[in-house]
Amino acid sequence: MSSTSTQTDKLAASSINPATNNACIVCGATDAAPLYRGILKCRACGYVFADMRLTDEELFELYNEEFFTGAEFSDYAADAKFFRKNFRLRFRELKKFLDPARHQNLLEIGSAYGFFLDVVRDEFAAVQGIDITDAGVRFAREELKLDVVQADFLAHDYGARKFDVVCMWDTIEHLREPQAYVEKIAAHTERGALLALTTGDIESLNARLRRDKWRLIHPPTHLHYFSPESIAQLLDAHGFDVIYNRYCGFYRSIGNMAYNILILRQQKPALYRPLERLGVGGLGFYLNLYDIMYVIARRR
Ligand SMILES: [Zn+2]
Repeated sequence: MSSTSTQTDKLAASSINPATNNACIVCGATDAAPLYRGILKCRACGYVFADMRLTDEELFELYNEEFFTGAEFSDYAADAKFFRKNFRLRFRELKKFLDPARHQNLLEIGSAYGFFLDVVRDEFAAVQGIDITDAGVRFAREELKLDVVQADFLAHDYGARKFDVVCMWDTIEHLREPQAYVEKIAAHTERGALLALTTGDIESLNARLRRDKWRLIHPPTHLHYFSPESIAQLLDAHGFDVIYNRYCGFYRSIGNMAYNILILRQQKPALYRPLERLGVGGLGFYLNLYDIMYVIARRR
């Protein structure tokens, strides 16, 4: 049996019955109800999640090299220009809340190829990343000479180390236990530290109109779907006050967009290949669908 079908079998077998579901990771309530097929919503706080549990092995399997070069992205490294533009936009907002004397050490969880760390490296005394993907970590270390560890954040021992700024770009929705991440971030930050993250808003107009067809409904890679209320509640439970939450836009390459639509969604390579040959992939545009939250929170 191939590893892919083993994984699919395990995912199917690990589906959980809402009636016997564990406590909500945001509010602790135990009455989740189906929202869409395979997607549950906590009736008490509105937190939405995929109805599946992944083992460590399954999670690592999802984020192998293919994640960045086919499964989720057409060619991650080739889109570097657009990722850098996005990260410059993110940092421009974050910078408004930074005190250079107070915020000197930055950690990025889910640092992928290291483009964000590379964009901000001169703004801090030290920047460090952590990621579980081999190809991303290798690129960040070897090509960009960044301080990045390849490990699971929850398993990695930071000792008594404290960070002043922690970033998680489009990462929290992928995690198996986001509440454990926020708890560990709290343990490695002190009063005044900042936590910045982006993630989809399940209560956004676009998400509500598109329902289960919303582009960010994407299990098993996207497991958690927050709203402004549920993300604020989760962060508050671990000592973080949300001080900023706005919808953010992003730059996309036409190549990546076409790949997503024509290959991943519609499976029409015959339409995609001519675009690829024309070389339009390097062109891009800015888009704000008002469904991705940019959240900045401060440690109490
Ligand atoms: Zn809840």
